[in-house]
Amino acid sequence: AHLARIEAVDEKVHAFLHVDREGALEQARAVDAKRERGEPLGPLAGVPIALKDLFTTEGIPTTVGSKILEGWIPPYDATVTRRLKEAGLVVLGKTNMDEFAMGSSTENSAYGPTGNPWDLTRVPGGSGGGSSAAIASYQAPLAMGTDTGGSIRQPAAVTGTVGVKPTYGGVSRYGMVAFSSSLDQGGPCARTVLDAALLHEAIGGHDPLDSTSIDAPVPPVVEAARSGSVEGMRVGVVKQFRGEGYQAGVVQRFDESVELLRELGAEVVEVDCPSFDLALSAYYLIAPSECSSNLARFDAMRYGLRVGDDGTRSAEEVTALTRAAGFGDEVKRRVMLGTYALSSGYYDAYYGSAQKVRTLIARDFERVFEQADVLVSPTTPTTAFAIGERADDPMAMYLADLCTIPANLAGNAAMSLPCGLAPEDGLPVGLQIIAPAMRDERLYKVGAAVE
Ligand code: GLN
Repeated sequence: AHLARIEAVDEKVHAFLHVDREGALEQARAVDAKRERGEPLGPLAGVPIALKDLFTTEGIPTTVGSKILEGWIPPYDATVTRRLKEAGLVVLGKTNMDEFAMGSSTENSAYGPTGNPWDLTRVPGGSGGGSSAAIASYQAPLAMGTDTGGSIRQPAAVTGTVGVKPTYGGVSRYGMVAFSSSLDQGGPCARTVLDAALLHEAIGGHDPLDSTSIDAPVPPVVEAARSGSVEGMRVGVVKQFRGEGYQAGVVQRFDESVELLRELGAEVVEVDCPSFDLALSAYYLIAPSECSSNLARFDAMRYGLRVGDDGTRSAEEVTALTRAAGFGDEVKRRVMLGTYALSSGYYDAYYGSAQKVRTLIARDFERVFEQADVLVSPTTPTTAFAIGERADDPMAMYLADLCTIPANLAGNAAMSLPCGLAPEDGLPVGLQIIAPAMRDERLYKVGAAVE
């Protein structure tokens, strides 16, 4: 049914970069056979899933939305991919994304934009717009995303779906093509909080192949999603996340959600996080710095594209020609920014300062989590914007992640779930919930209560 749905609508939506029809049917049959033999099956066995095109998939192309990896077939599965297969999920294919996960609209994909199923002239958010659009258009019931500065939560918000960024280290990064290693985190995209929890349990947990993986059991997210309640919980409303630049309908729906939390028995307090105002600036030094180092491996020798290798050119020339042709504008912009910020003489002033701001943000979180069990805010300042509207204005694009970035910088767990449509444009609004690191279950408890 999902393959038929993809065939019927994806020409318009363009959520997928690759559909693995045969592989999906084969996996589905294997699950059926197991069922017939009476073998034990997990709760998600046989459920289809789409993967953002930066999880490596053995034998299936993985492009990261970039020309530089066009034609590359990974020889191995990411830990997430392997766990999904072991749990019996059926991988439908790979979804569109901003090149190397850099962007907030999926317009930076080298393979063309994805439409927002609510209005195809609008963006589905980014970088994981393909995964959220696939779910919103019923082409997949579940998907995997990655969130470095908001790329699971922001697309979820603007497509009216659920997205979770687990605690940093909660889901293995092994086999996730790296953008900014200290921020990147894989996580679930789904239509309901319980679906997201089931997926979270299937992919989470310690992985010796990822040195930053947390060696602790997955928090009890499914149990929390089943028993959703906010009775007696303290919910902090972040003072910094409103005001100029926030769409009226977004603020209205957010305020109604806070009212609902109160009615359901939560104690609502306002919390002050002054360092959050600096989060965007710190992020746009740290993420490009790490990206400039991570992307050095795309040298035309190891993977994918190779341009100008005609026997007359040096390796350096071939590398330069390949990068010039293979990377898009945003990736080049970030590599340049990052290389500059890390260069001798500027390192302390830029990268060093950004790391200090990161510490201040973590301290703000630590302090306010003494006053509140979870924090809430709008996920994004506005609803989905039009395709092309911010394409030539990087600063306007970066603002889409204003509310999501602090949780990445500090490593917290965070969720976005739908909280109604903005009256002025009829488009979905997202409610963000943030929990302390390793307390992911609180997101699901509160999320299930208000969804
Ligand atoms: N939009 C942010 C960026 O461009 C976040 C991307 C992400 O989370 N991968 O960096």
